[in-house]
Amino acid sequence: MKAVRLVEPGRPLELHNVPLPTPGTQDVLVSVKAAGICHSDAHYRAGKSRVHPLPLTLGHEVAGVIESVGCEVKRFKSGNRVCIHYLTSCGTCAWCAQDNEQFCASGQMIGKYRDGGYAEFMVVPERSVFQLPDEISFEHGAVLMCSSATSLHALRKARLQPGETVAVFGVGGLGLSAIQLAKALGAKRVFAVDINPRKLDLAETLGAVAVNASLADPVPRLAELTKDRGVDVALELIGLPVTMQQAVRSLAINGRAALVGITEKSFLIAPYQEVINKEAEIIGVSDHLAAEIPDLLKFARDGKLDLHHIVSRTVPLDANDINQTLDALETFSGDTRVVIKP
Ligand SMILES: [Zn+2]
Ligand SMILES: [Zn+2]
Repeated sequence: MKAVRLVEPGRPLELHNVPLPTPGTQDVLVSVKAAGICHSDAHYRAGKSRVHPLPLTLGHEVAGVIESVGCEVKRFKSGNRVCIHYLTSCGTCAWCAQDNEQFCASGQMIGKYRDGGYAEFMVVPERSVFQLPDEISFEHGAVLMCSSATSLHALRKARLQPGETVAVFGVGGLGLSAIQLAKALGAKRVFAVDINPRKLDLAETLGAVAVNASLADPVPRLAELTKDRGVDVALELIGLPVTMQQAVRSLAINGRAALVGITEKSFLIAPYQEVINKEAEIIGVSDHLAAEIPDLLKFARDGKLDLHHIVSRTVPLDANDINQTLDALETFSGDTRVVIKP
């Protein structure tokens, strides 16, 4: 079968002919119908995050059709439409037992530590696979498995309650999902903070109140928009110290800031005014959980999470097309989301 693989960090991905993988007794073989090209894949190609063992097939946002199943697989049979949770885990350790499989010591991210979906077929354990409702296209099913799933996890970690206000810092793939999911979970008002007018327009069409951070400091602007109360939940989806600081500063009494964007840099807070005195909380968010995927699929099936704005283009399973898409992601000049259709 064809697979587009990382052979060496810092070099373009290559199209290889590789043997068709064989499912183990508890695995399924999936015929890939859609694989999202994610910003993380650009980091992997560039060598900014470790990918192992090489060569390895990238692709962690995958939807497809079950081709065959191992002899112990109960929930699926060939022909089922499915999408794949990107973390495979042991299913038996203490973390897995409490549905916190992102901390499983033998967890392996697909497309990073085991072969992923930039291929015609891939093998995954049955427990990583979810039925994809007919109403959801393969392209949307694939993209749901990364940025949308993480947005839902962030809102869960921030314990968003119906009637609360939310500020979303960063209107990319994560932000467009976060705005819709916050509303689906009952947020009274959602503020979208970005510097890109086109993205802010899109956020407004999804029902958010746009806050253009290139025109004025968003912290006083959010205070003004909430009558000096501040927001109950702030999501930082960019990974910049300045927006992390703004997210914390914009909180109301008992507010929760969920940090999702990744940076190695530090940011400053004034502990008394910005956290202690308000009993505010700063919460870390890492990936998402398999247990959240059924809810996510339900929001998408019911039209509460519409991905038409997010998936902008499809490309074939071709190394040149994929490398060009990754180039564009590296310079932030690309489409919102490009999906491979093998
Ligand atoms: Zn991704
Ligand atoms: Zn485990």
